[in-house]
Amino acid sequence: MRWTTQAVDADDGALPGLERSGLVRRVQTPEFDGITFHEVLCKSALNKTPEASRLPFDYTVNTFRGCSHACRYCFARPTHEYLDLDAGHDFDTQLVVKTNVAAVLRRELARKSWKREHVALGTNTDPYQRAEGRYRLMPGVIGALAESGTPFSILTKGTLLRRDLPLIALASRQVDVRVSVSLAIGDHELQQQIEPGTPSPKARLDLIRAIADAGMSCHVMVAPVIPFLTDSKQHLEGLFADLAAAGASGVTVIPMHLRGSTRGWFLSWMSAEHPALLPRYRRLYGRGAYVSPEYTRWLDARVDPLVERYGLAGRQPAHRGAETPASPKSEPVGPPTLF
Ligand code: SF4
Repeated sequence: MRWTTQAVDADDGALPGLERSGLVRRVQTPEFDGITFHEVLCKSALNKTPEASRLPFDYTVNTFRGCSHACRYCFARPTHEYLDLDAGHDFDTQLVVKTNVAAVLRRELARKSWKREHVALGTNTDPYQRAEGRYRLMPGVIGALAESGTPFSILTKGTLLRRDLPLIALASRQVDVRVSVSLAIGDHELQQQIEPGTPSPKARLDLIRAIADAGMSCHVMVAPVIPFLTDSKQHLEGLFADLAAAGASGVTVIPMHLRGSTRGWFLSWMSAEHPALLPRYRRLYGRGAYVSPEYTRWLDARVDPLVERYGLAGRQPAHRGAETPASPKSEPVGPPTLF
């Protein structure tokens, strides 16, 4: 693995090379069939986002690299290639665990130079993926942020967040805390195909309800919307009705983009499962990563009245995750093409 030569923009610069760190343990356990944990000692935890990224936060913390939620559209996939792992199956099953992340973060937050800028959790991997049940990294991270007076946000698909709800609610009395759940596929069967490692839509609706019941607002990332599979009026209306009933405070809706090796990983699945859609995808995306401007306008026109009807126009939190582009935009892909 090319751990020692990873580029700074690979993820967060917080991952030490195995050779440099001095410790690495590879763990496989029967409870996590097919998954290998690479336990590392990180040298830094806070990652400064690049100026050019135009992200609504300056710092991130990622407790893991790789994500067993295994979303086929995940834009963080190419970051695994910096480890000489592949962006497909390896991203889903070869998980890097920063076992000392809370202690390192606490040290960094104690520096006089720390200005208590907003820290986003869940931007490149899901902090509440199943592995968090084994490693329990988040309680230490949340405690360190709250005690240092640092505002933070969490974005997840993981129902494991419920374990930490009392802690998060407590932290929200000390600092500004924003919690978002990602749920863009209401159909259980389709969710199992596209996001095979994630909790079901119903389980995530229950999570949204639990967050609201704990007295916190819960924004929902309806992202990504997958063209021709989850953009029907019927699907979106059903999803929005469920989100409103669960107590979501607002939604952000973003169509799927396909960058780098994520594109091939997603389209190989699509060619196996929905080959008839491939020509439409070619027209919609062309050789670019983004849907055509016409599609974006069409989707906005479909979504806006639903957002209004279901009272989901609450403010967007300072957060974007691995389902959403850093700078959502559309690229022209030739002549106007919608379908
Ligand atoms: S999109 Fe989020 S939850 Fe899905 S695999 Fe990527 S990091 Fe994990």
